[in-house]
Amino acid sequence: MSTTQAKTSLDFLERLGIEDFNFGTSTGQESWGDRDGEIISSHTPINGDKIADVTVTSREDYEKVISKAREAFKTWRMMPGPERGEIVRQIGLELREHKEDLGKLVSYEMGKIFEEGAGEVQEMIDISDFALGQSRMLYGKTMTSEREHHRLFEQWHPLGPVGVLTAFNFPVAVYSWNTMIAAVCGDVVIWKPSEKAPLCGLAVQHLVQRVLKRNNLPEGIFNLVTGDRQVGEFMTKDRRIPLISATGSVRMGQEVAKTVGSRLGRTILELGGNNAIVISKDADLDMAIRATVFAAIGTAGQRCTTCRRLIVHDSVFDQVKERLIKAYKSATIGDPLDESTLVGPLIDEQAVKQMQKALGQLQQEGGKVVYGGEVLEGGIYDEGHYVTPALCTAKPGFEIVKEETFAPILYMMRYSDFDEAIEYHNDVTQGLSSGLFTLNLREAETFLSARGADTGICNINAGTSGAEIGGAFGGEKDTGGGREAGSDAWKAYMRRQTNAINWGTDMPLAQGIEFDI
Ligand code: NAD
Repeated sequence: MSTTQAKTSLDFLERLGIEDFNFGTSTGQESWGDRDGEIISSHTPINGDKIADVTVTSREDYEKVISKAREAFKTWRMMPGPERGEIVRQIGLELREHKEDLGKLVSYEMGKIFEEGAGEVQEMIDISDFALGQSRMLYGKTMTSEREHHRLFEQWHPLGPVGVLTAFNFPVAVYSWNTMIAAVCGDVVIWKPSEKAPLCGLAVQHLVQRVLKRNNLPEGIFNLVTGDRQVGEFMTKDRRIPLISATGSVRMGQEVAKTVGSRLGRTILELGGNNAIVISKDADLDMAIRATVFAAIGTAGQRCTTCRRLIVHDSVFDQVKERLIKAYKSATIGDPLDESTLVGPLIDEQAVKQMQKALGQLQQEGGKVVYGGEVLEGGIYDEGHYVTPALCTAKPGFEIVKEETFAPILYMMRYSDFDEAIEYHNDVTQGLSSGLFTLNLREAETFLSARGADTGICNINAGTSGAEIGGAFGGEKDTGGGREAGSDAWKAYMRRQTNAINWGTDMPLAQGIEFDI
């Protein structure tokens, strides 16, 4: 392990317009006062410095946001899809122009390395391009009617204001997976970013508002509210919001599902994962090691798709372990804005404590930490929240192995028979992402089959993290069942209407029913 020192220059904040940005506002366009209201402070996990205070959206301001959103919906829903796509295209251009600065803000406020922060902005650009195409493809089917002179078809209409709740670890990309698609579908969006990364929300809001203003469109098409879960609850309880897309912990998803379900609203739930990679005896080990290291320690283990469990065939277990220890030793831990860093800090002190607690429990259950797991001290490390990623040996039945600890802990486990590997893989309550490394066709096809991995995303010879926006993203079981981004995920943001047109002169009834009067 080697270290780097903090040397962050903050000129990117100025270039994002954050300097003269009104932190009290909820839409990015207009101040509504309320500056004496409650505040959340944004701190960088790099060295604990305060970046800014952000006003929490009050109930009164929330009402203003929702009425602006509802008003804007009247205009937006009637614009042709491709014209909405054009607005999203322009947002993509703004993002291209500010990719580096926004990527740096993501890195500075959340702690992921700049490469990954910029990658997040690239995802926003990619989904904008995808959504532009989708804006011309909101296809409905035409069915053959059983009645003479009837046309039967379906069409898709926008839902209304869509609520988007996001987690701290992807402070901008998850917003765009939802918002760009919802927008071309004709919905308006109300976004509450994580209370741990509110400035990322404000910066993005600032960019999208520029596009709306340039096109003389109502600011209520894209709305922002800031604050903690109480502000989130304004949205989940609000019958005026027909769909809530919620990304976060399983606990949060359970609460959101209950609240929104009790008013029969719709949800898209994108919750915690406990993802595994299986390394077979027939794996290309060079590929498997590289993919595992990125999946396990990338974003300091704070991705929903982070690899937390490694299920390795007996015959290669020791070799894989030694090679991983070597790789872990060479990972540079420090300031995420320093380009030599591979692992940045954890988000806060609480995350460090959770990691220590999990490692303690692992040892109590009979597992071992074979490398890392220390809390780093000295210099920048004393002010931020830095740890060495932990590589551990464990057994599939351990309670701690079944939990998602949001930190860089990788549990290595042995298997001898491929069916056993699948059984271990599926023996957790979460079901987001999985990877199998093998050059054996039968194993690969079995893993992808109905008796294989039970995850929403399942890869062969690729790791668990780093999904592309073109596919539908999401997971099964406690991960919540939601799907976002590509493929046909757009359908969740619209209401389907089935239509019949009788263009004849008779009134035939379906099922041949006679009902003459
Ligand atoms: P979190 O659950 O603490 O908070 C997520 C968001 O939900 C925040 O904006 C928070 O204010 C809000 N919130 C919390 N409780 C709420 C409630 N009862 N009602 C309304 N809003 C509420 O999650 P976090 O710590 O920010 O993020 C880490 C978690 O998110 C991990 O479990 C990770 O796996 C998960 N995650 C999942 C995905 C995915 O796509 N599956 C993506 C990113 C993160």
